[in-house]
Amino acid sequence: MDRPRITIFDTTLRDGEQSPGCSMNVQEKLHLAQQLDRLGVDVIEAGFPIASDGDFEAVQRIAALVRRPIIAGLARACKGDVDRAWQAFQGAARPRIHVFLATSDIHLKYKLRITREQCLEQARDAVRHAKTLCSDVEFSPEDATRTDVAFLCQVVEAVIAAGATTVNIPDTVGYTMPEEYGNLIRTLREKVAGIGEVTISTHCHNDLGLAVANSLAGVQQGARQVECTINGIGERAGNASLEEIVMAMRVRPDRYRYETAVASEHLYPASQMLAEITRVPVQPNKAITGRNAFAHEAGIHQDGMLKNPLTYEIMTPQSVGVPDSRLVLGKHSGRHALALRCEQLGHKFERRELDEIYRKFVVLADRIKKVQDSHLLELIQDVSRGGVNVSNSDDAVQSKKFPPAAASLPFPRAASAAAGANPNESYPAQVSRGAGQSQVRPSCPAPANWFGGVSVPRTDHHSEQEDYLWGV
Ligand SMILES: [Zn+2]
Repeated sequence: MDRPRITIFDTTLRDGEQSPGCSMNVQEKLHLAQQLDRLGVDVIEAGFPIASDGDFEAVQRIAALVRRPIIAGLARACKGDVDRAWQAFQGAARPRIHVFLATSDIHLKYKLRITREQCLEQARDAVRHAKTLCSDVEFSPEDATRTDVAFLCQVVEAVIAAGATTVNIPDTVGYTMPEEYGNLIRTLREKVAGIGEVTISTHCHNDLGLAVANSLAGVQQGARQVECTINGIGERAGNASLEEIVMAMRVRPDRYRYETAVASEHLYPASQMLAEITRVPVQPNKAITGRNAFAHEAGIHQDGMLKNPLTYEIMTPQSVGVPDSRLVLGKHSGRHALALRCEQLGHKFERRELDEIYRKFVVLADRIKKVQDSHLLELIQDVSRGGVNVSNSDDAVQSKKFPPAAASLPFPRAASAAAGANPNESYPAQVSRGAGQSQVRPSCPAPANWFGGVSVPRTDHHSEQEDYLWGV
């Protein structure tokens, strides 16, 4: 039986861009949009056209350049917003107008100062108007998870009747729980007339760390579109992480019998590109794309990994575009990993020599946490020079060749000890902050030439968007 296809709606350029420090200029958005196209996402939400001239231009240029995926533009539920979004889509291959309006009582009362009846009417009118312009219309009842369920059903039914083709159910404030969110999707499917004719979508925020779990719960109850972002960036704690959603389905098809069109080997390059553009590093332990996601330091793990990667890896680094996993050489590393790294550096040792190197290595690793190739080469040279019977063999380790970690390696780069790994390859966004240290610019292994070698000036248009820093 065919697996249901899940539409991946990427909102890195809209919701993601709203997160602090993640604003992007038009050129940067264009480059990222092209990477999202390579990644195979179905929908790219390119911006909020009425929010600023920069957003308008970004949507317009992305829609003109990127032709395969649907390009969505956000609009509040009013004629001016919808018209502006549509203007940005002139010449677009597959445009979508995404209309949103808050529906929870707390938003109606304090933010919009309208009644439920006015809300219902405004939502219906805006969708009806959008439909006169564009056949593909999505509607989002903002703060849906804190909206009275009966009223939510009423609004969803009204916008479907008005022509919406996708109904998105945002957990705008990251408040819901997986079972609760799944139940909400099921209730909508049971109670709303016409819902079988439209696509139900999830849009979950990560304030309680449940955005991915909630999205998957929604999918299990019939949602067929997931809104998400690269690296999970987005308002406050962020959105559901695209890479985690995609890989959860790919690694556990026994539990999640769905498929996406995402080419997973482009996940890591997309993550790197975003980190490079925004200068916001990926947290090291971030699932799938963090620099430690495939790093193994503990000796027993490294030993197992070298014998068979399946002992500790549920997916291969290559499957998500990471060139190889990292065996970090630290004080927990074993002889096996050390010997392999030495071999990769061109030095094969007898047991006694290796014991000597290992002993020095452990002393060093205790001081500098991560032993890099340059340090290891110094140790090797030392042992080669002095032979294995040198009595004061710790001299080198204690010497000034290896200054203390705090001064020399504030954020040491992980040495790679995996078979075939490129020792020169590095993870990005490690910025040295040590006194007198030159700044280590983030480097980017895979798609290194997004800007074609030309540096793109950064402009910050975020201030223009102050009034629009809310959405679904
Ligand atoms: Zn959002």
